[in-house]
Amino acid sequence: MKLPVMKLLKNYNILIKHIIYYLLIIISFSLSPHDVIANNTLFNDYNGIIMLDPGHGGNDHGVSGPKGFLEKTLALELANLIAAELKNNYKVEFTRTDDYNVHLDQRIAAANHAKADIFISLHTGGSFQHKPKDIIIYHFIKPLTDLESGKLTICNNEYNSLKSWQNIQIKHIRQSQIFSKMIINRLSAVSDLPPACIKGVPLKILQSADMPAILIETGYLTNPKIESSLQDTGILTNFAKALSLAINDFFEKFSN
Ligand SMILES: [Zn+2]
Repeated sequence: MKLPVMKLLKNYNILIKHIIYYLLIIISFSLSPHDVIANNTLFNDYNGIIMLDPGHGGNDHGVSGPKGFLEKTLALELANLIAAELKNNYKVEFTRTDDYNVHLDQRIAAANHAKADIFISLHTGGSFQHKPKDIIIYHFIKPLTDLESGKLTICNNEYNSLKSWQNIQIKHIRQSQIFSKMIINRLSAVSDLPPACIKGVPLKILQSADMPAILIETGYLTNPKIESSLQDTGILTNFAKALSLAINDFFEKFSN
């Protein structure tokens, strides 16, 4: 009687192993790409550091509004308001803390050196037309090489590609896009702000950031109405609150 029982047990074990194997396959296919990113690659060494980058400074005023309000002033003011919203939950660092200019490379180097978890560059838009008003959130996209854009034919199998360090943002593009969408969601709930949209552009300031990175233009300062609204601390505070909520959304999704 023993032998058939042993055989039955052996078959039972094989059956259980097969069931577990197929269950694992089903589970792995049911994970969304976001889940895979969350579990595997992002924020294994989460530091809770936000790097705020107030654009321009010193001799570099950035855009100037019709009444003389300067982009560099707004950028620093907004950075301070955002930091006030974030300070209880994160360590907030600045690429500049006063009215002086910092080279683009130094801004990103500061973020990489601090091992920041996110990089946010703050700017306003400017246009010769007075109409444009939208908030624009830029994330990095890989620039087309001349070969890809059809301007160059292959010669000795060589064509220019970005150098390795300049490629570093490419691995964070997906997260930067998701973060951009989270910002849009939060900003759209603030009624006194202009509409917001997302653009993918191969911006130099973002390309060497080794973390999710975005640049925000908080509306066109050259538009007189926007210039007035960007001088309103209440509106800027609402903007800062929405951005800090988007940062919470982002880390809730990716840092667990
Ligand atoms: Zn700017």
